[in-house]
Amino acid sequence: MGVLLMTKETVWNLENSYAELPDKFFSIIDTNPVESPKLVVLNESVAISLGLKVDLLRQEDALEVFAGNMLPKGGSSLAQAYAGHQFGYFNMLGDGRALMVGEHITPEGKRFDIQLKGSGRTPYSRGGDGRAALGPMLREYIISEAMHALGVPTTRSLAVVTTGESIMRETALPGAIMTRVASSHLRVGTFEFASKWGTLDELRALADYSLKRHYPEVKFDGNQYLNLLKKVIEQQAYLISKWQLVGFIHGVMNTDNMTISGETIDYGPCAFMDKYDPLTVFSSIDREGRYAYANQPRIAGWNLARFAETLLPLLDDEQEKAVELAQEVLYGFSDLYHANYFRGMRSKLGLYNEEKEDQSLIEELLSLMAHHKADYTNTFRSLTLGNKDCSDLFEAEDFKTWLQKWEERKTRQPKSKEETLQLMRNNNPSIIPRNHRVEEAIQAAENGDYSVLKRLHHVLSMPYDYLPEQEEYTQLPPEKEGPYRTFCGT
Ligand code: AMP
Ligand code: MG
Repeated sequence: MGVLLMTKETVWNLENSYAELPDKFFSIIDTNPVESPKLVVLNESVAISLGLKVDLLRQEDALEVFAGNMLPKGGSSLAQAYAGHQFGYFNMLGDGRALMVGEHITPEGKRFDIQLKGSGRTPYSRGGDGRAALGPMLREYIISEAMHALGVPTTRSLAVVTTGESIMRETALPGAIMTRVASSHLRVGTFEFASKWGTLDELRALADYSLKRHYPEVKFDGNQYLNLLKKVIEQQAYLISKWQLVGFIHGVMNTDNMTISGETIDYGPCAFMDKYDPLTVFSSIDREGRYAYANQPRIAGWNLARFAETLLPLLDDEQEKAVELAQEVLYGFSDLYHANYFRGMRSKLGLYNEEKEDQSLIEELLSLMAHHKADYTNTFRSLTLGNKDCSDLFEAEDFKTWLQKWEERKTRQPKSKEETLQLMRNNNPSIIPRNHRVEEAIQAAENGDYSVLKRLHHVLSMPYDYLPEQEEYTQLPPEKEGPYRTFCGT
């Protein structure tokens, strides 16, 4: 029997619905081939969830696609146009270092964008080289996958290839391209682009496309654009509550980094909070703390207001009426967010039912954690395990008083101890991607050893399982001078 040669068409099942939008929304670009691509990471579970065959993805033709050297059959080579408010200031942006290969349709009929990040210059590159370094691509890979496992809506990472080329940042760095999988790359910034430079018909085309793609349940009954705003607000209120509950800090919540689908996107200088401090900022460029942990819900509200503004001409012919409609929906964001957040917090404390005083019980715990500089994740982990960990918090008298209150509160629900514990286990991760562990894995990979990354990915894939092998990853880094800092890596 002869060897079955792989043909490109057996790997992907691609469509390009985005390319049916008006031309203004994208540019078809030439590929920017790289010298000697090498597949360094392939995420088999993502591949399988997409209905892709892992053995085919490990072959030469697939590598050429991951590297942006070749387009798969049925694919495109498209860079999306968008704008955005970056740290509060409006700019024209667009895919400056990414290309969309197409939308893969899974055997179940689900549609996912397949995008190469770091694939070279496009008309939206401005002064940039269109490339990405290996470190930041691995960082996005590992953190987005950890977020998925934690149950936070997010884009996913299918593969990382090294390009065999160096890119210049502060020093020469190994170049890499990441294949990102997203339910779409439609952003608040895409609407800002349409609102600023598009016609009303073009804006409507984008809104209709977004509705059909993400919210097909919305009826086109005249209220569809107000319902689009409602849906995006709901999804974002849910997403941001999830971030806050796991202690995730995005770091660059610019409007171009906020999706219409409600997935987390564009992992740059993000990181997980270690000791609980609402003012935590990791990003070196966020000097004023605009995107600090505690500000994330408010910033999301601000971004959603920018989104709502773009929709005004679709909401009503009379601007005043349109503003009134949008404002009413926008006001709902804060309540939706708080309801999600406190529901999540009650679950973290094993509380199934709701009492009026729960909010103060939760806030009291958080303020004790802040006062005693307790690690956010490990405190909830210890509460779940019933451990008295050796932190200052667990030794403190005021915390012991709080523990008593919590014990009493737990008795006021018709649930067994086991049920309470189960709820806590399902909501308090035993493990998060701790900054020093992520750095360690990236450094090893940069030196050619991917085993550290692989193991980290593995233990992070089951954060609610409380496995013995996760124990060592719960440890805090040795005390260092100065706070942890992250960089955009662009
Ligand atoms: P980000 O900070 O990754 O969200 O990117 C902000 C904007 O800068 C987007 O328009 C990116 O496409 C663009 N950008 C980031 N890095 C590069 C790069 N190396 N070359 C060209 N454009 C880039
Ligand atoms: Mg971005």
